[in-house]
Amino acid sequence: MGDFGVEAKGVKQIKFTNWSQTFSCEPNLYFVPKDVEELREIIFLAKSTNKKIRVVGCGHSPSDICCTDDYMISLRFFNNVLSINCETNTIRVEAGITLTEINAYLDSHKLAIPVLGSVSDITIAGVISTGTHGTGAKFGVLADYVLDMELITTSGDTIKCSRDENSDVFLSALSGLGAIGIIIRLTFQCEPAFLLYEYSYPSTLGEVLEELDEELKSCDHYRFLWFPHTDCVSVQNNNRIYNKEVTKYTASQRACNWFWDYAIGYYTLEFAYWLSTYYQPLVPYINRIWFWLLYSRPKERINISHKVFNFECLFKQHVNEWSIPREKTAKVLLELKSWIERTPNIYVHFPVEVRFVKEDDIYLSPAYGRDSTFINIIMYRPYGKDVSHSAYWDQYEKIMKESGG
Ligand SMILES: Cc1cc2nc3c(=O)[nH]c(=O)nc-3n(C[C@H](O)[C@H](O)[C@H](O)COP(=O)(O)OP(=O)(O)OC[C@H]3O[C@@H](n4cnc5c(N)ncnc54)[C@H](O)[C@@H]3O)c2cc1C
Repeated sequence: MGDFGVEAKGVKQIKFTNWSQTFSCEPNLYFVPKDVEELREIIFLAKSTNKKIRVVGCGHSPSDICCTDDYMISLRFFNNVLSINCETNTIRVEAGITLTEINAYLDSHKLAIPVLGSVSDITIAGVISTGTHGTGAKFGVLADYVLDMELITTSGDTIKCSRDENSDVFLSALSGLGAIGIIIRLTFQCEPAFLLYEYSYPSTLGEVLEELDEELKSCDHYRFLWFPHTDCVSVQNNNRIYNKEVTKYTASQRACNWFWDYAIGYYTLEFAYWLSTYYQPLVPYINRIWFWLLYSRPKERINISHKVFNFECLFKQHVNEWSIPREKTAKVLLELKSWIERTPNIYVHFPVEVRFVKEDDIYLSPAYGRDSTFINIIMYRPYGKDVSHSAYWDQYEKIMKESGG
């Protein structure tokens, strides 16, 4: 065991706040170890002082999962690529590296991560510990692409695990919410770099639910955004495409894109939702008008995979996302729609985002043993102002639970 000189490296009076500024804490000590030895010393110190440890990645989890009064550890310095194999399409990395860093490295080696969620400024360990997912009937949660890992346990020992070695530890630590050990290194399965062709088009909730099975089979990455208080849906349909050029925009097209994406899609929308905090019946009008402004015409583009998977998430927001067996998708969405429409004084923001994930065998994964639909509801916090969302959250969770959520 160490001599606990490491205690002096712990920073006091740090306030941690998660990305959406909805949860915060003041850990007793905050550490940023520079190597595995220092990490071990912190573990021994925690044992001797009876403190618990929470590892934090980029703090993007929309929950208090990283919060602690005891010791918080960031693996910010564990951000190296250890090796890459362009024959097996695999990359070995340290756990604190971000997906943005991995994407850039893979780009230069003509490889890519097969599927991503909406953002990449998050750590690989944070991603795999929480069942982070993108969309696509044939694509699992990102943890499903991990081939092996090394963890440090509370005894300070390093455990290597994979599907062939310590498989119970492996399948527990993937999607393990940071509770199984500290992940320090892992190998990730990639694929040859690809472009995505994105086609988005307007539809209705009735239509997408009716054609869901066919739509899911028809493309690599299918998702849709439903606009509550309306029947409007924006479908986003992405397919791998080869031997094509990335869509190029002229200066005037870029200015036009900025106008719609930022001036209308962000600044004006935030103002409109802020106004609606004083008069909530505005919300259904806002949802309908913004659908019409931004999503009522088909659009297409081609870009590098991660630039299509990811988008710039500008709004601070409350988020709630559960998964259900895929066959319950229509039942759940129609129940939620009916509840929103018949309940007085319920006004909810757009979108409700619906994504699809292939089943896996990871013990705590939300897609364990079943092809799953992830339904994500949000309430924005315009200019940081809190909007009431507890009734919406409660009813959503009740409906999801009743359908195996
Ligand atoms: C704008 C935005 C968009 C998002 N989009 C999506 C999306 O499209 N799909 C989706 O599924 N999720 C999405 N998320 C959620 C996000 O992917 C997860 O919360 C992810 O865990 C964030 O990674 P992080 O590095 O910030 O982890 P943190 O939030 O810092 O940590 C998450 C968990 O991982 C644990 N952990 C971190 N590092 C380690 C380690 N080395 N060893 C063991 N445990 C560790 C922590 O203890 C904690 O339990 C989004 C979040 C935001 C804010």
